[in-house]
Amino acid sequence: MDVGRQRMLINGEWVESLNGQSLPIENPGRKGTIVGEAPRGRAEDVDRAVQAAANAFEKWKCVNPRDRGKLMIKIGEAIEARMNEIARIIALETGNAIRTQSRPEAMLAADIFRYFGGIASEIKGETIPLGENLLSYSRREPIGVVGGIVPWNSPVGLGALKIAMAITAGNTLVLKPSSEAPLAVLTIARICSEFLPPGVLNVVTGTGSECGIPLANHPSVRKLSFTGSQEIGKTIMEAAAERIVPVTLELGGKSPQIVFPDADESQVVDGVFLAMRFTRQGQSCTAGSRLFLHESIYDSFLEKLVKKLKSLRIGDPLDESTDIGAIINRTQFEKVCSYVEDGIRQKGALLLTGGLPPSEGPLSQGYFMEPTVIGNVRNEWRIAREEVFGPVLVAIPWKEEEEAIRMANESHYGLAAFIWTHDIGKALRTAHRIESGWVQINQGVGIVPGQSYGGFKQSGFGREYSLEGMLESFTQRKSITINLQF
Ligand code: NAD
Repeated sequence: MDVGRQRMLINGEWVESLNGQSLPIENPGRKGTIVGEAPRGRAEDVDRAVQAAANAFEKWKCVNPRDRGKLMIKIGEAIEARMNEIARIIALETGNAIRTQSRPEAMLAADIFRYFGGIASEIKGETIPLGENLLSYSRREPIGVVGGIVPWNSPVGLGALKIAMAITAGNTLVLKPSSEAPLAVLTIARICSEFLPPGVLNVVTGTGSECGIPLANHPSVRKLSFTGSQEIGKTIMEAAAERIVPVTLELGGKSPQIVFPDADESQVVDGVFLAMRFTRQGQSCTAGSRLFLHESIYDSFLEKLVKKLKSLRIGDPLDESTDIGAIINRTQFEKVCSYVEDGIRQKGALLLTGGLPPSEGPLSQGYFMEPTVIGNVRNEWRIAREEVFGPVLVAIPWKEEEEAIRMANESHYGLAAFIWTHDIGKALRTAHRIESGWVQINQGVGIVPGQSYGGFKQSGFGREYSLEGMLESFTQRKSITINLQF
């Protein structure tokens, strides 16, 4: 399957970049195979898109929120109707397995549009009691042109999120997907464009330096919403500081999973497996990649986990029987390998399963890696501190509860956390002490629309994904006070 040469969306039209160049998109499941091309946008293309969004804003902000919501719901339905096509494109360009990842991601995108469509009329203000002779009330107003930048690991889920939040709130948007995975985002943009007026949504494709930087720095962009790495998040924040525009940063993580001694059972193994996002090759910001196991269950738990991991099917992302697909590209693949090499080189480290990828056989034809577990890791090692963004779980034993919580919090990240125990008091006490934006107890699922989502510490700031997140991040509050005695 090849989706051919795609165009990008500016002012309701499907266009090439002004320089006519395009970027090839590789299939991570089959090294060297090109599955499509996207325009190689640069500053001049970004400028056209921002101009179109600025022009469209004047009318779009006046559309009744309920009517904006109705369009979002229609977009959600249309995405669901084309779910299989979208899922195939996600699988092709990201390497994420179609059954376990790509189809659920396409479904999530439909749900996101429906959720924000349903709450559109909740964009409301308050009245403030300043006395009998004064009427004071607040309005939630859109901000203007939003610059949305998303990564490759969940391109459609995150793209849908930025589109639905920004546009439902009455803003217009210039969205830049990752140059590694722009094709499925362009497909959902095509669906959106069938319902939205020209210029309300614009999608420019290109690299971070050629297209992302001009978008972040464009003087007419009034709000930045960035999801990606911590390193690039810093440069986005500098760009926002330069012009004093609000910014939301959804960055990386190195999330802990704490397993208490009473939770040595197969459903916890399944939950830990899910929380580590192994079926997404660990390429998730919320991956629970530091496993703190109580010493009394350390061996028996890992034995069950390793057995489960060895039973999984790795391979062609488009094959319905595949559990685990491929890592996004060569650079990321080599980075993950170097983390594994570094981890297993440490004194006392034990490679329990997986490890460096095969150099021959069918799996060597793509960027495939087996799920990897390294035992006896120390929390201060690089492999336990830095975000690997690959299928690599480190296991760290603990004795005292205090010690487990201290180690879990010893990280500059604070995105997610997972706690496993039947003792609900202990679970809640631990949850309250964990420094993370989202703590799950006895489950390891992905985010659901409606939950405010975002990080503590260097995992970012600002909240998205919910009504409150949309109000906080995509509207600005205006107070109006009237003297009734005038
Ligand atoms: P990245 O930071 O390299 O790129 C993210 C986006 O920014 C891409 O579209 C890229 O083209 C663009 N970009 C790159 N350099 C830029 C620059 N100088 N100026 C403007 N834009 C620029 O991240 P990635 O490798 O695509 O994605 C992986 C990272 O994303 C991981 O760190 C992961 O944890 C994080 N992530 C976070 C969340 C979250 O919600 N917290 C969700 C998914 C992924």
